[in-house]
Amino acid sequence: MKSITSVYKIGNGPSSSHTVGPFHAAQTFGNRYPDADAYQVTLFGSLAFTGEGHGTAKAIREGLPGSQIIFNTEETDLPHPNTMLFKAFKKEKEIASVRIFSIGGGSIRIENEASEEDKEVYPQKNFTEILSLCNQEKINLLQLIYILEGASLREYLKKVWKAMQDSVERGLSTEGILPGGLGLLRKAKFLYEKRCYNESADVTMNRLIAAYAYAVSEENAAENVVVTAPTCGSCGVLPSILYYMYHDRGFPEEEILNALAVAGMIGNVIRTNASISGAECGCQAEIGSACSMAAAAVATLYGLNIDQIEYASEIAMEHNLGLTCDPVNGLVQIPCIERNAVAAMRALSAVNLSRFLYTTRKISFDEVVATMYRTGLDLNEKYRETSHGGLAQIYREFEKEKAATGVLA
Ligand code: SF4
Repeated sequence: MKSITSVYKIGNGPSSSHTVGPFHAAQTFGNRYPDADAYQVTLFGSLAFTGEGHGTAKAIREGLPGSQIIFNTEETDLPHPNTMLFKAFKKEKEIASVRIFSIGGGSIRIENEASEEDKEVYPQKNFTEILSLCNQEKINLLQLIYILEGASLREYLKKVWKAMQDSVERGLSTEGILPGGLGLLRKAKFLYEKRCYNESADVTMNRLIAAYAYAVSEENAAENVVVTAPTCGSCGVLPSILYYMYHDRGFPEEEILNALAVAGMIGNVIRTNASISGAECGCQAEIGSACSMAAAAVATLYGLNIDQIEYASEIAMEHNLGLTCDPVNGLVQIPCIERNAVAAMRALSAVNLSRFLYTTRKISFDEVVATMYRTGLDLNEKYRETSHGGLAQIYREFEKEKAATGVLA
């Protein structure tokens, strides 16, 4: 398996390949040529066709401020459908030119260069092998992660955690309508502030976790900076739980970083053995994976053992199996934003069950991951990020009917 860092990418929403990858590419290029006085970026293929609409240009301008952006929809002979050409200039003379590809999940590949991301970090292929090594060496998951990843992972996770907190806090303090034409109101601030009379501790906890999940998911929908965990569409689940534990329950940052590492390992197992892509396996691959990661994070914070962590992740995925991807109008808003909040609360329930029942379980995490993958491949294409089925289809039909009967007039 590759490094956990491949699960967590910092960049602009709402799409890992159209915004997170380009942001990362722009930053990488800018860091290589910090002394240039001008930059030019040409977008080709899918990135050029979706133009400003998918937020690619905005992401590049944030990663490489001041860059001039060109949309080239003419050239079709491309090495990759998401190709970008970066150029740097000094005193009007070109000093560098490189093609970078956005290859999915926020990952990039620089032409003619070996990628650090391709490096195999874990000899183990799945959770069973990880568990067996931990038992054999009498180490826990966290120890195994740091033995194989090295201490540099800590610094990376600190940046990830900072970006997650920033996205929660920006989302909580912003109101208004999300872009894209659906007219959807941001709700995070309202949820955060709307304390009910005589609210019980449980209701407060759920309301706050939901508010944090809405905050991050709304930031994603608004094309602002988020962290893939493991994708943009599901980016609110894990930060909401971690922010609650840190901000409202007083868990120290060191423990939050440990939870982030273990959650990353769970995401990594899913990414390696199945898929984290809604386009490939439906929403179970995005929200189901995020729910499993969040359950592993909470179980780690609670000091549960490796079997309980595994079982919590397994329960979290098992009850998201079959979840379809049907975003209304192709926007990552309905059902995505609300779904992040529901998954965060479900992750807590999974941990509560695993704490007591782990000795009685029959299904391993690897089994549920394999089930998710096969179910995803069996899903009708309508339910795999095409916006042709489910809520997306029904919403369209109802809107048409309302318009025809004059309800909207
Ligand atoms: S419905 Fe589709 S776009 Fe929305 S979060 Fe789920 S997988 Fe992502």
